[in-house]
Amino acid sequence: MLDERVELVVASGKGGVGKSTIASSLAIVAAEDGYNMVAVDADAEAPNMHLVLGVDSWDHVDPYYEGRTAYILGDKCTNCGVCMEECPLGAVEYVGDRYVINQYICEGCITCSIKCPENAIRYKFKVKAGEIRVKKKTQHGFPLVSGEITPGRPNSGKLVTEVKNKAYSILGPKGLVLVDAAAGIGCQVISSLTGAHLALLVTEPTPAGFSDLQRIHRLTKHFLIAPMLVINKYDINPRFLDTIEEYAERENIPIIGRIPYDPMVPRSMAEARPLIKAYPESPASKAVLEISKRITGEILPSWRSFRAKYKPRKPEPYIPVIVKPEA
Ligand code: SF4
Ligand code: SF4
Repeated sequence: MLDERVELVVASGKGGVGKSTIASSLAIVAAEDGYNMVAVDADAEAPNMHLVLGVDSWDHVDPYYEGRTAYILGDKCTNCGVCMEECPLGAVEYVGDRYVINQYICEGCITCSIKCPENAIRYKFKVKAGEIRVKKKTQHGFPLVSGEITPGRPNSGKLVTEVKNKAYSILGPKGLVLVDAAAGIGCQVISSLTGAHLALLVTEPTPAGFSDLQRIHRLTKHFLIAPMLVINKYDINPRFLDTIEEYAERENIPIIGRIPYDPMVPRSMAEARPLIKAYPESPASKAVLEISKRITGEILPSWRSFRAKYKPRKPEPYIPVIVKPEA
């Protein structure tokens, strides 16, 4: 159905707006509609797509190595305590009668080894920083690739890149890569968006939802990705619904669906079941199904023309803003 690899990222600047509910339902609909596809859970700090899709075991689990951590050579250390004073992360602890470096906190910044007067600090390289997990075929008929960061390791965009590379190798040259990105605009999200063609942005009509929508939209503009918008719980706040709809019109973002507030959504999440399968008659489920069908039936078959119509004309520079406390 797709004559090359097309990557669609489901993203939201804010957590808890229904992104994973929509992503998992869209994956099921795309597979049922015959797409060659692979789903990617790129929320490596809190992966949950496998839970919703009923995956309780993996076919492959590959360790992922990245970075370094420091450790102290006991025979060289004179217990001066400088490393504890200098470590910006509080990773050095005094345990018993000696200083040790907490491997869950250390990020290998080398400050301590520069300051240590005895040259008593060394590094372990290629620390296990996470896992890349593969289910060749979920009960819904498509593969799932999921990344998970080891507790205490830095938030990793590189892990997400490797997770996507694994998905590409499973998919082959043609088909759909459907990525459920982490919430926010951090390095995992940037890696999720890198190389993507389309972005399904999910928001809700609240001040925080609107603010975070603008931030994630700026990122998609930076990467020249064609966006589309879903407004979840659209009926909870009419004033901000208007604000978001005006923003979408001004910014040339097509609104492809509005989902009503529905208690069946959190219930399906609590039961770890896809909304469209667990409660197909609920209002939110019908809306999610309609949105998914619109994507699989209208947008993906003509994704090039959709992209040409909605892709930003030029990349927006993305410059982080640093807010300093007043002196
Ligand atoms: S700075 Fe060096 S010598 Fe001092 S406590 Fe730390 S490791 Fe030991
Ligand atoms: S390498 Fe950096 S984070 Fe790790 S213990 Fe040394 S100063 Fe702290």
